[in-house]
Amino acid sequence: MKKLDMLYEGKAKRVYKTEDENLYIIEYKDDATAQNGLKKGTIEQKGIMNNKIANHLFKILEEKGIKTHHERLLNDREVLVKRVDIIPLEVLVRNYAAGSLSKRLGIEEGVKLGVTVLEFCYKNDELGDPMINEYHIKAMNLANEAEVEKIKDMAFQINDYLTDYMKKKGIQLVDFKLEFGKTPSGEVILADEISPDTCRLWDEVTHEKLDKDRFRRDMGKVEEGYQEVVRRLLGEN
Ligand code: UDP
Repeated sequence: MKKLDMLYEGKAKRVYKTEDENLYIIEYKDDATAQNGLKKGTIEQKGIMNNKIANHLFKILEEKGIKTHHERLLNDREVLVKRVDIIPLEVLVRNYAAGSLSKRLGIEEGVKLGVTVLEFCYKNDELGDPMINEYHIKAMNLANEAEVEKIKDMAFQINDYLTDYMKKKGIQLVDFKLEFGKTPSGEVILADEISPDTCRLWDEVTHEKLDKDRFRRDMGKVEEGYQEVVRRLLGEN
């Protein structure tokens, strides 16, 4: 499958058309940003590692019956995906307090939340991805009632599968972000990526961070964190 016109360039990925109007190619970059683009940098080999990790996790979710945009890995940095219209929502799933939730609510990082918390943010860089609720989603027509229900169901199921899977690999799934898309026939499926860029992944025992927080917080050993996730999830060095 050949890359044709570039449709979109984001912070960490490029999306291309292909000869098949229903398939796109995603190319993963090494660029990293944080604080809504304020902090910029490169994480060596990140594109390759995230492509591997996302591909692996999407395959596991597909086996569990979760529909995703994933088709097949093309090479180190490229994956073939189904064409979808991205629903402009960031769906955050939180098992433990961390990041913006800790700041907002004054709950120390690492505290287990009484229930899994779901949050929605409106995907809009100019506005800084503000947090919204289901009323805003409907008022702004970002998704209808049935779509919101489907997104919530899928998000909780994905959390159950991933939490369980990561635990077997010695990783604590603290929180993560999902994005969903609509196929041309109107079906809601999981899209975007699941990787250390979009998840908080801690060593289960030491609570060492193995994710993008190492970059966001200038902790050093950023590449090593991602590499460790590849090693644990895929058994590779
Ligand atoms: N997240 C993401 N993209 C975003 C915002 C958040 O992938 O634009 C992920 C982030 O990696 C974390 C989770 O969503 O795993 C919750 O993030 P939080 O709201 O705590 O944001 P942060 O502290 O990163 O600003």
